[in-house]
Amino acid sequence: MRAAVITEPGGPDVLKVREVPDPVPGPDDVLVDVKASALNRADTLQRQGGYPAPPGSPDDIPGLEFSGVVVEAGANVTDLSAGDRVFGLLGGGGYASRVVTHSRMAMRIPKGLDFEQAAAFPEVFFTAYDALFNHCELAMGESVLIHAAGSGVGTAAVQLAHSAGAYVFGTAGSEDKLQGAKDLGMDVGINYREQDFSAVVREHTGGAGVDVLLDVIGADYWDRNLASLALRGRLVLVGTMGGGAVQADLRPLMFKRLRVHGTVLRSRPIEEKIALTNQIKRHVLPLIDSGAMKPVVDKVFPLAEAGEAHRYMESNANFGKIVLSME
Ligand code: NAP
Repeated sequence: MRAAVITEPGGPDVLKVREVPDPVPGPDDVLVDVKASALNRADTLQRQGGYPAPPGSPDDIPGLEFSGVVVEAGANVTDLSAGDRVFGLLGGGGYASRVVTHSRMAMRIPKGLDFEQAAAFPEVFFTAYDALFNHCELAMGESVLIHAAGSGVGTAAVQLAHSAGAYVFGTAGSEDKLQGAKDLGMDVGINYREQDFSAVVREHTGGAGVDVLLDVIGADYWDRNLASLALRGRLVLVGTMGGGAVQADLRPLMFKRLRVHGTVLRSRPIEEKIALTNQIKRHVLPLIDSGAMKPVVDKVFPLAEAGEAHRYMESNANFGKIVLSME
């Protein structure tokens, strides 16, 4: 098969397309002819040598998600067969023309999604759903602040929170991204380059703050995040694009009775990933099917231009997902 391989740790140019052996499915797996994959920030860290793959996933082929067509189902697989259109999460190896995945992590592609849209769904919708609902128990009528609202994770989180009946605040670094997030259901957009987001949030909530905060920035925002949360607010940290180390005043955690969660998807045991896949099938795919929400595709690159796609992501230009097409 063809794969975009990390030939050595480094910049975007170390990604090169190579012929590599096909993966071999086990009895519970399906072998998939991949039509598209998509980028995640983790891929850029892996490329630089800073994010090793979990056991069972290739170290040198990035890619946490795929869409494609089943070519072979293992002996124990009863619900999928050759020809089925599927998509799902991977521990790695998605930048390739073939992948193997446990059959219970492969979801049938909803009608109305093409392969590129389907590849843009898994990692960010799973992450945002898990963060907002499993960790923070976001409920109808509550308010939520979503940082990097124009990111892959942000565009999924805005849609999920809006459809759950929450009042949605979001931050981004440009008016275009804020307008895009408003089109997805965000109520109040805050340009973090021009405004103090915690002041805007307090102003719009009568001084109370938000119930839930989904953060991908980390250290740079820690104090202002705590200042943005309401009494008994919940913060979930899923990324540290603004640094991972803080000198913190812990007292707001006590006085406001806050809850702070942190989470990653990739390194979780397969049982947890299957359980989350089942939640997504039940609670989110019907909303994709009905057209109530959709994965946002910013740009599609051919596999051979995976390095260019990484460079584009690192320029912070994308609104939504950057997709790799295997065609
Ligand atoms: P993405 O689509 O590449 O979007 C990232 C955006 O964040 C950038 O375009 C930029 O938009 C903004 N940004 C970057 N650095 C920033 C900074 N220092 N301060 C403020 N804004 C900044 O990203 P993604 O793939 O959705 O990932 C978003 C985050 O979620 C990453 O940290 C990633 O590692 C994390 N993540 C975690 C998990 C998990 O399991 N925990 C899973 C998936 C993703 P602006 O134009 O608005 O500045």
